[in-house]
Amino acid sequence: MPAANEVERALVVVAHPDDADFWAGGTIAIWTDSGIAVTYLVLTDGDAGGFDQAVPRERVPAMRRAEQRTAAAILGVRDVRFLGHLEGTLQPGRQLRREIVRVIRQVRPQRLLTWSPQWNWQRFRTSCHADHRATGELALTAAYPDASNPFAHPELLRDEGLQPWVITELWLINGPTPDRYVDVTDVFDRKLQALRSHASQTQHDGLVAQMRERIAPNAVAANLSPDRMVEAFQVVLNS
Ligand SMILES: [Zn+2]
Repeated sequence: MPAANEVERALVVVAHPDDADFWAGGTIAIWTDSGIAVTYLVLTDGDAGGFDQAVPRERVPAMRRAEQRTAAAILGVRDVRFLGHLEGTLQPGRQLRREIVRVIRQVRPQRLLTWSPQWNWQRFRTSCHADHRATGELALTAAYPDASNPFAHPELLRDEGLQPWVITELWLINGPTPDRYVDVTDVFDRKLQALRSHASQTQHDGLVAQMRERIAPNAVAANLSPDRMVEAFQVVLNS
């Protein structure tokens, strides 16, 4: 694994606006604070999300993109990109992989953070969304072998001059066997502020309690004091 100071750029590939902030917002804030340039690539506009039926559905994509940009900025992320696919429709396939490979070769990250393509039976509800697993499958296959193979999606090299790129670290959200714990206590307030920016999703009481409840088991698993706020990942080396 490259030393932390060898990681200059990280790419976060998620299914919906708010995925990154909910699951990895503290870790991402720590990365940007240490000088790592982080790019978000959000595959859908989360157009099936929210709870306010009075909001016309056609307004939802623009609203959620704006919320995502605000939340990202709070965490130090200035490069936020959207592919604009419809929520609930993500499927592994060559065309969508090519769209992700294009961004990998443009950004040239040493580190990729994305969803696990595997079920996590401990957190079946809320986290094992079909879009999440499809995103993991797509992003990991885009990372290897596609992004590093000049003969995969040859039009990206031929028409856009995008050279092959090897990502060395893969960080998975909600994998069945987490092995990396990040203590985000010191940036937890910023994470909450970012989450509140997703006003169409988080305008309800109990957000703090919900977050604490969700990540409390991570402190125990990491052998840290239960009052610490901890995010969990499975880290895979592409070597
Ligand atoms: Zn999601």
